[in-house]
Amino acid sequence: MKNIAVIGAGTMGNGIAHVFAQTSYKVNLIDVSAEALKKAMATIEKNLDRQLAKQAITEDVKQAALRNITTYSDVKAGVNGVDLVVEAATENVDLKLKIFKDLDEACAPDVILATNTSSISITKIASVTKRPEKVIGMHFMNPVPVMKLVEVIRGYSTNDTVTNKIMHLSKDLGKIPVEVNDYPGFIANRILMPMINEAIYSLYEGVAGVEEIDTVMKLGMAHPMGPLQLADFIGLDVCLSILNVLHQGFGNPKYAPCPLLVNMVQAGHKGVKSGNGFYVYSAGSKDLVVAERFRR
Ligand code: NAD
Repeated sequence: MKNIAVIGAGTMGNGIAHVFAQTSYKVNLIDVSAEALKKAMATIEKNLDRQLAKQAITEDVKQAALRNITTYSDVKAGVNGVDLVVEAATENVDLKLKIFKDLDEACAPDVILATNTSSISITKIASVTKRPEKVIGMHFMNPVPVMKLVEVIRGYSTNDTVTNKIMHLSKDLGKIPVEVNDYPGFIANRILMPMINEAIYSLYEGVAGVEEIDTVMKLGMAHPMGPLQLADFIGLDVCLSILNVLHQGFGNPKYAPCPLLVNMVQAGHKGVKSGNGFYVYSAGSKDLVVAERFRR
């Protein structure tokens, strides 16, 4: 596999395009928004510059990586002649089902269709195609150029050949792939989200404050970031939506989202992206400041 299409040039798509391009793959980066494509190329260049400054790459590698990426706003043109598509468009079931139906028609039968979805069933996405054995989850972590893990998710019908190819490809990108089966939340979010939810419940029930909860998990469990700060970073709306997937998918009340999380999302407090969550984020400031209502 040499020619890759990446669909969606947002937070994850630009990172995925970056790592493929840096590893000498030809990347067609596709987005419906011209603005998103422009922003993605600027982000990729900025992140390559950061690697250059740290002497992690050379100027030649940077220039070659940038040359390896071509942007497209039309999906059909962008997937022409590629060996693999990695879809990283907005997390929305109907949107993804439509994209995969279109991809199945536009791509040659041997093309592998991967999705970076955090929570949507791979089996469901595969079911709208005529090649469910070639549909697979390739779940990169944010920020993609930095994080080593790729959760490789086998849908119910994904075959061994396709799984092995994606495992091998992930290693070629310098990542460490882990193979898991397709059940709600896969492994990463099935374990992470209940921990975050429990941290929010502990705050809601007054067991401890924001700083205390995060400090226990940082210093006591050697987590680089506390669960409440991590929730802010992921986006509280994203956390809520994944917890809803777990709750509905397993039908088990242990996954029910904490009412405080529901309230915060409804009030528009979504974490870093809205400037407020468990902490407040002012532009340019690196200091972590607990949100007013949670100060003790
Ligand atoms: P994002 O909102 O930053 O970017 C999504 C991009 O998709 C946007 O630029 C949008 O214009 C584009 N898009 C929407 N419809 C499209 C279409 N039909 N064709 C082409 N492009 C289209 O989202 P993101 O955070 O990068 O998330 C993308 C995917 O990655 C989601 O499935 C999400 O669950 C998953 N994911 C996100 C994270 C994270 O930390 N952000 C981590 C792992 C996985």
